[in-house]
Amino acid sequence: MPDVLVFAEHREGETEVSRPVLQLLVGGRALAGGGKVTALLIAAEPSGPAGQLLACGADRVLTVSDPRLAKYCTLAYTAVLAAAARATGATLVIGPTTTMTRDLFSRAAARLGAAAAHGCSAAKIENGCLVVEHPVYTAKAMAEVALAADRPNLVTFRNNTFANPTPGAGGGMVEPLAVELTDADLAGQVSEVTMTGHGEVELTAADVVVSGGRSLKESANFAMLAELAAVLGGAVGASRAATDGGMAPHSQQVGLTGKTVSPRLYIACGISGAVQHLAGMKDSGTIVAINTDKDAPIFEVADYGVVGDLFQVVPALTAALKSKLQK
Ligand SMILES: Cc1cc2nc3c(=O)[nH]c(=O)nc-3n(C[C@H](O)[C@H](O)[C@H](O)COP(=O)(O)OP(=O)(O)OC[C@H]3O[C@@H](n4cnc5c(N)ncnc54)[C@H](O)[C@@H]3O)c2cc1C
Repeated sequence: MPDVLVFAEHREGETEVSRPVLQLLVGGRALAGGGKVTALLIAAEPSGPAGQLLACGADRVLTVSDPRLAKYCTLAYTAVLAAAARATGATLVIGPTTTMTRDLFSRAAARLGAAAAHGCSAAKIENGCLVVEHPVYTAKAMAEVALAADRPNLVTFRNNTFANPTPGAGGGMVEPLAVELTDADLAGQVSEVTMTGHGEVELTAADVVVSGGRSLKESANFAMLAELAAVLGGAVGASRAATDGGMAPHSQQVGLTGKTVSPRLYIACGISGAVQHLAGMKDSGTIVAINTDKDAPIFEVADYGVVGDLFQVVPALTAALKSKLQK
């Protein structure tokens, strides 16, 4: 059975581990069989998040608190992830599907001579091989890929691929991992990170996403979507037409050239449902579409459709949810 290393992605200032990372502990446990599940945490103040990782099922948490790693930098994080994989002997390294891991896991896989798969939505062990599923051809088809058994595998999984853990007492160990970083590892440093999202909930980790398209017309109208998202504890997304049109920041773009999301609930407001948009949200649990055009392609993937004007439907839905949730 493979020992599993979970990359517990953490950003400067965060005091909690994201839900998609905690779900990976559940997935890691299932894939490890009887093997060990270790989490790697790079954080200046690791104690809080490390405790959470142990409570949610990690056997061990390796921490790296080097202040030079406070902000993500590709080469240094690659060195740390590769060192952790070697130190643990893990043959399976898993992480959440995010902008950071899209960059990091490919590079670390090359460094380790490992196989890599990104944005997977299912996994199983078959004949000793890890078999993963991920969308291909703009999510028009699913590929089932058996990864090589003779080398480590690095895999990222989409939000909600695995169940949420039930926190327990957590009897595992927290151990610092010493990694020698060279000048070359630290050649590229991020000096500043500017947060451009509207909400407090990270888009790729959100349980609910309310997205808007070109039909929102101007950025001020996204406040209406933010209000609905806030009532549901979710995040706001956007189509590329909306981000290219300056109505929403590019960090909120969902789709082929944007972010991949798989929340439990996705509400598409005035989005036509172009294949490039669907590529980023088709795996969502329940899809609700609000569109004035009854023939809009988004209705083909929607579980619930409202043919109507979003400027009437969204405020009415927000008001109804507010009154229901306040009772
Ligand atoms: C290489 C490439 C990559 C791309 N990557 C992405 C990507 O990552 N993400 C992405 O989203 N797109 C992407 N696109 C663009 C994509 O093809 C579409 O152009 C885009 O998704 C359309 O955005 P939209 O649905 O907001 O706009 P439109 O297609 O213009 O649709 C607007 C919809 O709003 C409806 N509507 C109008 N008024 C109202 C109203 N008052 N109430 C309710 N409904 C209303 C209309 O009926 C229509 O269905 C990409 C394209 C290319 C070529």
